[in-house]
Amino acid sequence: MTIKKEQLEEINSLRAQSNQTLRPVSPELEKILYQPFEVLDHGFVRVVDYMGNDSSVVQAARVSYGAGTRKVNADKGLINYLIAHRHTTPLEMCEIKFHIKLPIFVARQWIRHRTASVNEYSARYSIVEDEFYIPRGEHLAAQSKVNHQGRDESQILNSVEQKRVLEILKQDSSKAYDHYLEMINQDVDGNVADEKKEGLARELARMNLPLNCYTQWYWKIDLHNLLHFLNLRADPHAQYEIRVYAEVMLDMVKKWVPHCFEAFMKNQKDGKNLSGPALEVVKKMLKGEKVEQENSGLSSREWSELMSLIKN
Ligand SMILES: Cc1cc2nc3c(=O)[nH]c(=O)nc-3n(C[C@H](O)[C@H](O)[C@H](O)COP(=O)(O)OP(=O)(O)OC[C@H]3O[C@@H](n4cnc5c(N)ncnc54)[C@H](O)[C@@H]3O)c2cc1C
Repeated sequence: MTIKKEQLEEINSLRAQSNQTLRPVSPELEKILYQPFEVLDHGFVRVVDYMGNDSSVVQAARVSYGAGTRKVNADKGLINYLIAHRHTTPLEMCEIKFHIKLPIFVARQWIRHRTASVNEYSARYSIVEDEFYIPRGEHLAAQSKVNHQGRDESQILNSVEQKRVLEILKQDSSKAYDHYLEMINQDVDGNVADEKKEGLARELARMNLPLNCYTQWYWKIDLHNLLHFLNLRADPHAQYEIRVYAEVMLDMVKKWVPHCFEAFMKNQKDGKNLSGPALEVVKKMLKGEKVEQENSGLSSREWSELMSLIKN
């Protein structure tokens, strides 16, 4: 992760302060507030602020005048009920703000989640940093023959192919960045390269930079929509490069709202919705009836998905 010394100093000085508050806090999340957690080669995620905790969900659900909490077990049960029955508005009462540094091609997938408030680093105003995502060799896999949308994580390229791919990625990134600097008339230290030249505007010069270039944003979202995001992106179907961010954030949610996290894992993340015909198949199997794909009402793909779900 590339985080500069002065940026770390700013983070440390914030962490050295503490404020008294009447508002609910999450002691475990407080311990990691502001701290960057490394993701990929130059990326990070850090929590910069949050509002509410498990008790805020309970308080909203009960439309309470006080803290809203009863016994821990009753509160846990209520949260579990809310999440299991998709009574989600109490979860919207909690919010969290992240600072994320991520490659642009990951940001393009991420931004499809429309329910967050986003403010991104401006490459019209600021100079893009010389940082490009270069995957580790073990992540250079071949196109999947089954899932046309992704890689086959078990088919890692051989070392010769890996070497060449890494060479191409590094050379192209470096060449594109050199041309970027040339167009904006800057040297690597951020000084004007040639006093006699004007240099192209940053908003135009950036168009030649590749998608593995890093960007940064502040991303604020409520707990309900964050869990939806994590359900989709901390999932084996999601691309590895976004999944690793989601996994770090999942751990942050566990620190922030442990009861909501537990209910989410139980009811959504580790659970699965079944279609009507799939449920019928399961019922018949439980009765000891023999069911075949041909008479199940499921396509062969649906059938194999169901079988791998219930037999593994
Ligand atoms: C594995 C995977 C593969 C994908 N592949 C592709 C792909 O090939 N091409 C592609 O274009 N996208 C792809 N996507 C993106 C996907 O289609 C969604 O755009 C993305 O996951 C955001 O989901 P969302 O709309 O539910 O989330 P959010 O935007 O966070 O919205 C949350 C929920 O709010 C509601 N909502 C938000 N906005 C609206 C609206 N305007 N109208 C109605 N309801 C709304 C919906 O209920 C929605 O589920 C992929 C996503 C995943 C996880």
